[in-house]
Amino acid sequence: MTAFPAGTILGYPRIGRRRELKRAVEHHWSGTLDADALEAVAADLRRATRERLAELGLGRDDSSIPETFSFYDQVLDAAAAVGALPARFDALREADGGVGLAAYFAAARGDAERAPLEMTKWFDTNYHYLVPEIGPETVFAPSSDRFARQVAEARADGFTVRPVIVGPVTLLALAKSTVAGATPLDRLDDLLPVYARLLADLRAAGAEWVQLDEPALVSESLPVTPGVLAAAAERAYAVLGTSADRPRILVATPYAQATDAAWRALAASPVEALAVDLVRGDLPETAPGLESKTVVGGVIDGRNIWRGDLAGAFARLDSLRSLSAAGISAGTSTSLQHVPHDVAEETALDERLVSWLAFADQKVGQIATLARGLTDGTAAIDAELAAASIALADRREAPGVRDGAVRDRAAALTRTDFARSDYEERVAAQDAALDLPLLPTTTIGSFPQTGDIRRARARHARGESTTDEYEAFLRDEIARVIELQEELGLDVLVHGEPERNDMVQYFAEHLDGFAVTEHGWVQSYGSRATRPSILWGDVSRPAPITVKWARYAQSLTAQHVKGMLTGPVTILAWSFVRDDQPLADTARQVALALRDEITDLEAAGIAIVQVDEPALRELLPLKLDDQPAYLDWSVGAFRLATAGAGDATQVHTHLCYSEFAVVIDAIAALDADVTSIEAARSHGEVIDDIAASGFAHGIGPGVYDIHSPRVPGTEEIADILQRAVDAVPTRQVWVNPDCGLKTRGYDETVAALRNLVAATQSVREGI
Ligand code: GLN
Ligand code: ZN
Repeated sequence: MTAFPAGTILGYPRIGRRRELKRAVEHHWSGTLDADALEAVAADLRRATRERLAELGLGRDDSSIPETFSFYDQVLDAAAAVGALPARFDALREADGGVGLAAYFAAARGDAERAPLEMTKWFDTNYHYLVPEIGPETVFAPSSDRFARQVAEARADGFTVRPVIVGPVTLLALAKSTVAGATPLDRLDDLLPVYARLLADLRAAGAEWVQLDEPALVSESLPVTPGVLAAAAERAYAVLGTSADRPRILVATPYAQATDAAWRALAASPVEALAVDLVRGDLPETAPGLESKTVVGGVIDGRNIWRGDLAGAFARLDSLRSLSAAGISAGTSTSLQHVPHDVAEETALDERLVSWLAFADQKVGQIATLARGLTDGTAAIDAELAAASIALADRREAPGVRDGAVRDRAAALTRTDFARSDYEERVAAQDAALDLPLLPTTTIGSFPQTGDIRRARARHARGESTTDEYEAFLRDEIARVIELQEELGLDVLVHGEPERNDMVQYFAEHLDGFAVTEHGWVQSYGSRATRPSILWGDVSRPAPITVKWARYAQSLTAQHVKGMLTGPVTILAWSFVRDDQPLADTARQVALALRDEITDLEAAGIAIVQVDEPALRELLPLKLDDQPAYLDWSVGAFRLATAGAGDATQVHTHLCYSEFAVVIDAIAALDADVTSIEAARSHGEVIDDIAASGFAHGIGPGVYDIHSPRVPGTEEIADILQRAVDAVPTRQVWVNPDCGLKTRGYDETVAALRNLVAATQSVREGI
């Protein structure tokens, strides 16, 4: 058995440098690529990845290359391997009961008869995983040999890879129970023998090490308590650590610091190595048993794109040496699935900026350097450390990184900049100014992004149409959407957002301090990827961003058109942000730019402005102690952005989740006049939560689910609305869908909105 290698990454992007996997998988779904051809594309991608990682300095045969390929999601992969799919997918299993591609993709996406697994955010990242459904009826059994086959496939090419699987504690901790009162973790003892079998199969296929990811062990905000999780970890690794014919085991606890109890459990367990996140966390206390384990120090940030302080990272690693007699290894803090493939692809980016960046491939190079330093001594890597330090110093001094005017303005802020008048005064001013009916109807902002819109944008980006032509197209589109909304009878209109490729990137493209990439795709879920912008410098707004479109839309109608902005927290959450100052400071800069935009919108005659903050919940820290400070600056940034609005200007916000109760204090503290929130999939609960909370401002619990093409009936919507009206004072209630309509088609959108308006009229008549 080999020792753990001196350096490794916890995982690598799997979508392909040119999103090859996305294209192949989507062709398979649409029936133009059969399963064998899809498997062939996937195998080629895995081969190319291994070769690339070896070229970048990871060893071919020392288990330093992780095998983290996935067709859709790593949680679904683990669930499929142990057979933990709900019974509704049984008919799609293979003849021998195995979970093949058909059952796998159906669980991910659903089909005509079956709802898919729910999807939710993976810890505090913007990656979404599929939530397993596990109950007393779940039968755990080895159901897919995909992991072992990949090990064998690598072996045939001369690689000894380290398969990576979501660990049993995390798999159960993230699952939802199929029956009330039970928790999936109760099934741990039934699950462990199947994991043990899986490990033996991996060993037989040629794996010398396996990595089990247990990020649940860092979280304090899961439904199960850290104490229960730690006890589960103790049990799980006592069993797996002593199971027969297993490979050596690395347990990884990425995304923050493992809780003390979990850390003690892992240190005392018979596994051979532990990987810790030293970017978001520190090393937990030393614990008995640790000296016999290899510690993989996650000093290279797996979630951000900065080249960073390599010398500091090495010093940090070096300082760990005394901890363990078994050795220290250089690692990434998390899988690199959260960063794009290769900065070398970004030929259009400013060269100076590029020299400060490290995407996945550059981070692998950094790991190889650190590993060499650990083995051969610092002198062996002096040149690399010095080069990184020079780049870092260059970044500190570069123009735009610090902008005196922006800093002076932020430094001069006082408490009054964060506060509007009392809500009652605003309501009076808005009632007088807006003349809205009871139960006002509206939408969340975007209308369907049709093929025509995407093509027009792409043509303009490629220089195949002039800006005048493109803008004329957008004006036509806006005029059409305004006319449609008037015809439907909606009360508060939107311009439809046809000019926006993405709700964050659009703003990044118009603000100083941001850069956008060409190929910097990061998997969001399944075949979907986003291209986060890079926030590298002080943020300011060289010119108004949305005002032209809002003014034009407002000129077409006598009804109110909502101005539409993305909030500071969401802009940060969905970008790669600078790591050289607190997020709170960066958020204030973005907030000030938005504040100016709102002032300009008001001057252009816009009476209602919506500031979307769908990511407010997502960034909530995993550690309870960190949450108050986060809520303080994030809520503060929203208030700073909106508090310049006059009393008569109605400020809306939109939040894309239904966990109203969890963040009610924060939502109230935003002090928006109207808040729209997702609710259609659990409207009963959300309405009860709103009523119970005593929330006193305007509230629009979504009356239909925009994630599905299904058109809700008028009565169905009326029922939901009636429930809201019965539970919450009528004057507070707004009527809107769950979220923006950009992913929907026009037919279903028009039909659904028609029913929404009709339902509202019928409920109004009963009041
Ligand atoms: N205004 C945005 C839209 O309608 C909001 C999107 C979101 O909440 N994710 O598309
Ligand atoms: Zn939304």
